[in-house]
Parts: sequence; structure tokens; C-alpha cells
Amino acid sequence: MNIHEYQARALLKAEGIPVPDGDVAETPAEVKAIAARLGGTVVVKAQVHAGGRGKAGGVRLAKTPEEAEHVATSILALTIKGLPVRKVLVVPAAEIAGEAYAGLIMDRETQRPVFMVSPAGGVDIEEVAATTPEKIFRLAVDPRYGLLPHQAMGLAFRLYHDLKQVRAAASILERLYRAFVRHGASLAEINPLATTGDGTIVALDAKMVLDDNEVERRPDLAQLRDPSAEDPSEVLARESGLSFIKLEGNVGCVVNGAGLAMATMDLVKYYGGEPANFLDIGGSSNPEKVVNALRIITRDAKVKAILFNIFGGITRTDDVANGIVTALDQIDVGVPIVIRLTGTNEAEAIQILEGVGMTALNDMDEAVQQVVHRVGEAA
Ligand code: GDP
Ligand code: MN
Repeated sequence: MNIHEYQARALLKAEGIPVPDGDVAETPAEVKAIAARLGGTVVVKAQVHAGGRGKAGGVRLAKTPEEAEHVATSILALTIKGLPVRKVLVVPAAEIAGEAYAGLIMDRETQRPVFMVSPAGGVDIEEVAATTPEKIFRLAVDPRYGLLPHQAMGLAFRLYHDLKQVRAAASILERLYRAFVRHGASLAEINPLATTGDGTIVALDAKMVLDDNEVERRPDLAQLRDPSAEDPSEVLARESGLSFIKLEGNVGCVVNGAGLAMATMDLVKYYGGEPANFLDIGGSSNPEKVVNALRIITRDAKVKAILFNIFGGITRTDDVANGIVTALDQIDVGVPIVIRLTGTNEAEAIQILEGVGMTALNDMDEAVQQVVHRVGEAA
């Protein structure tokens, strides 16, 4: 689960990381009031679940409360990487003498949290990673011991030379690690970790992604969710109890069981297609789930054909067939559908589908080849 900068900075602040004051607002008038309260020049920052806000015009300085109000009006009208800006954060402007990067991610390869730090922080960190990767330093942390003090110092020495600053940065890195673990994060990032005019080190931007499994069992984290900032398809999927992940292709997939869903995506690729999504409608067979699944998939204009791949074990294929019929009654799908089903109550299922003039295949290879072919025809 993504959280906003203003939420992430609150978690970091609670851990003792130096974070400037500030407040979040939804209207230009509120922004003006916050700017007046903070006094002096402020920065107005778009709160969306995306990086690169600075470059998209979502981070702007304002010298007076009036200017802050004006700047907020334009930022609140922005859409950044497809996400409409609904909230802004207002913070006092810091004088920036240097920008470093400090990030922590859960790394699958080493199966550990891995620190990444760089003295070349700021808005172009992706470019630093691509063109001068030697400027990024990594350290995998053994979760049994956590980040040890000498490791924190070692990383901090990569960022600063002044011993006072090194110590300050080491303390920030230790706290970043603690915040990461405490909140079950898969990513926690400070960029820029800024040096101000007087040499103080502060977190000027914060980004955290929390592991969905942690959020599931932690009401304190679940309340950080902002559905208005999330992809509507993912919100609908979660509310309907479907596991759904949007992908970039054009073959919509409705499958029961995560393993079969993965195998289906592999096969779509094998036959030259690109899956539009991962979607597991789960083991139980509830027609409502099929309706919601089709709603979610047909929201995606890229989808050119839809494949159902249903293996009936606990799932009764006749329930799925009923779900398909109900769904097609309610939704104008507008693209070809290929159905493969086999297993429990297969004969009944086929009868139901044939009753409305549809057919079903039994063989998975054949079904996938057919759906890829239909996409080709549509292109
Ligand atoms: P991002 O682009 O989404 O990562 O947003 P950031 O919060 O990192 O802001 C982008 C850039 O704006 C930073 O790298 C800074 O260069 C600049 N910036 C942010 N806050 C301040 C500030 O308080 N003072 C100054 N001078 N620049 C700032
Ligand atoms: Mn940033």
C-alpha cells in the first residue's frame, strides 16, 4: 500500500528523524492560512502516490500566503502520472546546500532489507542509478541484528565528510531502519536528505510503501489508506475480494487460483500475447465475483479480448458460467470472450453457456491460442 508524503513524514518524525514542520490541505484557502501561520517562504507539494512531482510542477515555492494560495490552485488542478492531486502539503522552504539520497527496500534477491544511499540525491536519482551507478552504495541488513551502529556510520561516511554530519546521518539511517521494520514497509525513502545552509541534515521528502499483509493485520496502518488516491480498479478489486494486479498488455484474464493465473499469463506470453492483468477470482464460486471481475477488466480500454480460465475443483464451473451470463447481462463488454473451463459440473456449465449462444473450450492451450489470435484480429 502506498501512503502519502505527509503520512510517511509523520511516521519518520515519530521515529525521531528531523522533518520540517508543515500541514496538509485540500483547498487553496487552507493553504493560504497554513502559509500565514508558518511565515516566510513555503513549499507547496502535491500529495499523490507518485515520484517525480518536482519535475511535473507539483512542488513549488511561494514567498507569500497569497502566492501560496495561487500556487496551490494550480497544483490542485494537476494530474501527475495519471493521478489527480487532491491534497497538498505546505512546509517552510528550506535553504538547500546539498541533496543526498537514503532509501531502504525489501530485496527479494538477498531476502533482506537493503539500504541504498547516494551523495548525489535530488530529483535525478533514477538517472544517477542508470548512468553513474558507482555513486550509489548498497548494504544488505541482517534482520536478526538490524542495522548495527558501525554499519550506519559506514553508510553515513559515503554521504558526508564532516563528522558531526556523519553522526547525524547515521542516526537518521538507524531510525529509518526502525521505521521500516515497525510499519512493515517494503520501501522507505528520503530524497532529498538535505543539508541546509547551517549544515543541519533534514528529511525534505519521504516516501513509504507498506506491505499489504502488514496493513491487513494493523488497523493503525489501514487507516492511512487513501482510496481516492488509488487506482479505481484496484479499489474495486479489493472491495470485491479479488486479487488483481494491472499489467500493461491487452489480454484480460479471469482465472480461479493464483497458480493457474500465473500459468495462464505464462501461456499468453508463450503464444505471443501480453496479459492485461493478473486476476484470481478465488476458490469459492460466487457469480458476483465474476461480475466484478468483468467490471474491473473492461474499465481498461487497452483490453482487446478476455480469457476465462476456470479449473473446477471447489469452484463449481456452472456457478462461474452463471456469473458470466449475469455479468454479460449487466455489462457491455465490447470485446471477444474466450472461455476455457473444465472440472466440477462442467456439463452443466456448458449447457448454461450454450443456452445464451456461447461456447466453452476444454483445452487450456487451445483457449490461450484462440484469445491471442482474437487480439491479433482486433489490432
Ligand atoms: P519529488 O520530485 O516528488 O521527489 O519531490 P521532492 O519533495 O523531493 O521535491 C523535489 C525537489 O524540490 C527537491 O529535490 C528539491 O530540490 C526541491 N525542494 C523541495 N523542498 C524544498 C525546499 O524546502 N527548499 C528548496 N529550495 N527546494 C526544495
Ligand atoms: Mn523526492
